[in-house]
Amino acid sequence: MNNAPIRVAVVGAGWAGCAAALTLQRSGSRVGVHVTVFEAAKIAGGRARRVEKDDRAFDNGQHLLLGAYERSLAMIHSLHGVRVAKVIDQRSLALISAPGNAAQVAVRAGNLPAPLHLLVAMLTAKGLSFAEKLRVCAWCAKTLYGKFDESDSTTMTVAELIRDQPSVAKLWLWEPLCVAALNTPAERASARVFVEVLRRAFLGSKQASEMVIPRVDLSALLPEPALAEVARLGGDVRSGAVVNTVAPIDGRVKISSRDGEECFDYAIVATGPQHIERLFSKSPFIVDIYKRLFVFSYEPISTLHYEFIGGVDPESYPMLMLDGEPGQWLFAHRLASGRVRASVVISAHHRNESAEDLLRDGLVQLRRSFALPNPIWRQLVTEKRATYSCTPQQSALLRTLPTSIGNIHFAGDWCVPELPATLESAVIAGEHAAGAVTRRLMCSRG
Ligand SMILES: Cc1cc2nc3c(=O)[nH]c(=O)nc-3n(C[C@H](O)[C@H](O)[C@H](O)COP(=O)(O)OP(=O)(O)OC[C@H]3O[C@@H](n4cnc5c(N)ncnc54)[C@H](O)[C@@H]3O)c2cc1C
Repeated sequence: MNNAPIRVAVVGAGWAGCAAALTLQRSGSRVGVHVTVFEAAKIAGGRARRVEKDDRAFDNGQHLLLGAYERSLAMIHSLHGVRVAKVIDQRSLALISAPGNAAQVAVRAGNLPAPLHLLVAMLTAKGLSFAEKLRVCAWCAKTLYGKFDESDSTTMTVAELIRDQPSVAKLWLWEPLCVAALNTPAERASARVFVEVLRRAFLGSKQASEMVIPRVDLSALLPEPALAEVARLGGDVRSGAVVNTVAPIDGRVKISSRDGEECFDYAIVATGPQHIERLFSKSPFIVDIYKRLFVFSYEPISTLHYEFIGGVDPESYPMLMLDGEPGQWLFAHRLASGRVRASVVISAHHRNESAEDLLRDGLVQLRRSFALPNPIWRQLVTEKRATYSCTPQQSALLRTLPTSIGNIHFAGDWCVPELPATLESAVIAGEHAAGAVTRRLMCSRG
């Protein structure tokens, strides 16, 4: 029996690639694997990464995790161990409008076992009449517990799903939740995926609905410690290493990069869908299988970061709902310097203002809620392809695509079509791809 290590290339060190590389290299001694990670950027994390600029470190976009993100949270716990409370802030669900919003809505999960905590949250919610609360509770019971017809749901949008809900619940509960979870406005978002997210968050344990806000930057939260462990376990991590092409050849996989051409036994391609066409340009049959991905539409997310000496109290309200003009959510945290970093999120942001105008409008919006001094620093980050549009059509198409071809496995947030493009779908996809490679190795080695 040949016991030479099996070489696996992981292309891309976003959360999916990092999860795949770590899972594989952790099982390395059992199955004899050697992992090589190729990441084009200098900083790992992909669409959830640290940006370094103006002597500051900030995220490319504010991210929120949910308690229902079982796989990402398990990986974060495994990487940070007893220090985990230093890297994430996990607290009960609280959807609260910023002061000054036209409607003052506040939904706070109660301190009871699931699902009573949500029943209490709805019944004690501020901003809805008693009759409106009853309609929301009845809708939840019917949609989440009842049989949501899967055949209708393949084309249904969230707007259609919530059609009969009270206007205030649509405007201040379901539509903001939809755009936050799916990064797609309710008129275009997949009802089926939305219901799946609600079920995972609200029908599980009380912890599933909790909000998890990173306390460290996104690269430090998972990608960097994951890659450090991969390297410690003997893997090879290459940053600033752009892969030009991936091609199946004689039962192996040829990777061409700045380091030349190398052959691997398996490859896990953990890039965004938009990169597949170029990577496989030398393998027309693979391009043909995935060609419907290449016309996918995407949703941008813009994040307006500001730094203030004071004026917002991040300890009381780390996350507040805004009125959508222009931002939908405000996240605030205190920096080691004592200053406050406020990040205004504009999801599914298809506006054309200049950076200067957006930063000005974001500040005007914050000043409708808080008495703020002039910011010491401000920065706009726009990710044009933050996520694929989670429409019924696109998520249905993803269900039809294979996640492996021969020795090439795909990972990435687009590989788990029952969920929207999130950190959790990226980590699940990475773990699945690693598990699939490991199983094939175990079989081939008897
Ligand atoms: C602003 C913003 C806010 C978001 N908010 C949330 C949120 O609150 N909650 C949530 O769960 N999700 C959120 N998301 C979505 C989440 O960030 C993504 O779903 C997730 O990060 C995707 O990870 P991935 O590993 O699948 O892909 P990516 O992060 O895109 O990783 C792909 C990696 O491949 C690398 N790569 C590409 N081509 C090559 C090549 N040729 N050679 C080598 N490397 C290559 C890229 O550099 C990248 O690092 C947000 C996204 C954005 C942009």
